[in-house]
Amino acid sequence: MASEIVVLPGDGIGPEVTRAAVATLQAVGRRYGHDFRFQTHLIGGAAIDATGEPLPAATLAACRQADAILLGAVGGPKWSDPSATVRPEQGLLALRQALGLYANLRPVRPHPVALGASPVKPHLLAGVDLLVVRELTGGLYFGEKQRHADRASDLCEYSVLEIERVLRRAFGFARARRGKLVSVDKANVLETSRLWRETATRIGREEYPDVALDHQLVDSMAMHLIARPRDFDVVVTENLFGDILTDEASLLAGSLGLLPSASLGDGRRGLYEPIHGSAPDIAGRGIANPFATMLSAALLLRHSLGLEEEALAVELAVAAALDSGALTADLAAPGQAVSTQAAADAVLERLE
Ligand code: ATP
Ligand code: MG
Repeated sequence: MASEIVVLPGDGIGPEVTRAAVATLQAVGRRYGHDFRFQTHLIGGAAIDATGEPLPAATLAACRQADAILLGAVGGPKWSDPSATVRPEQGLLALRQALGLYANLRPVRPHPVALGASPVKPHLLAGVDLLVVRELTGGLYFGEKQRHADRASDLCEYSVLEIERVLRRAFGFARARRGKLVSVDKANVLETSRLWRETATRIGREEYPDVALDHQLVDSMAMHLIARPRDFDVVVTENLFGDILTDEASLLAGSLGLLPSASLGDGRRGLYEPIHGSAPDIAGRGIANPFATMLSAALLLRHSLGLEEEALAVELAVAAALDSGALTADLAAPGQAVSTQAAADAVLERLE
């Protein structure tokens, strides 16, 4: 059966890196005999320029029909005038919301070539292999906001249902990995965090007794993540804490150009994108690192299409390309960098 994949290149380096990821999926399709069909649509600044809207109806309709969505990046200086009423980023938020993609996954497994580029000491990083699961559609970012002349407020609200569904996802991943889950909250101060912790404890006891559940307060977790990153397997947390901890965790990997992400809902459909932005400073020069987006394609194979062997093949091919010295400017020694295309080719030739 054919798989329908919607490709949203977006802005800046988005088109350059998604091209490499589509080529990756095509190579996998040829090698393993899968029929992947691609449809490209507009999002972000490119969509604003063409239609006036960051998420055109045609794009959303195509995404609703798709098995999976591969995205580059959105945004850039052209659309970031403070007086602008429509922004590229709104397109992405609206898409996640419309598709109910409440669980954001960011795996971090530093490759040896990137260890020197991390601010964390290499001996602490060897063997790090963690997965951060962030709740993406609730909490402070979506609660009622009020602004008065001399004060402002943002409501943080979570329902048991919202907590349960993201926790079940995280417990499931922990069970399939090394069986360890750390749930991060601020239960000594926040009511939403107390509900989060109670819910995690209950689900763990009733449904995942085989997974070792630990709770951490977000402030101490921020330290542990740098001081002993090797100790973690799956880490799950709410929206705001996850936003901060995932950026922190990205430092462990050395370069933004190596980190993929997946956003999942209840079904299999997911949205896959590199964690980096549109990198306007290097856009159009053919020097961006395509690996984060190629690794996002691997997550697409794993989580939306259920193709674990194929996903692993992509991950191994990227690791082998890095081992062979196919390093773009973000990772290479001065004068040694290869182009986006050459880095992508080093992966593709290993997949053919
Ligand atoms: P956003 O607000 O969209 O998250 P940002 O301002 O955080 O964007 P990025 O666009 O991610 O920033 O870029 C941050 C820095 O990292 C820039 O200097 C950019 O050139 C670099 N960078 C990001 N992605 C890549 C990549 N794939 N390859 C090489 N360098 C990259
Ligand atoms: Mg950013």
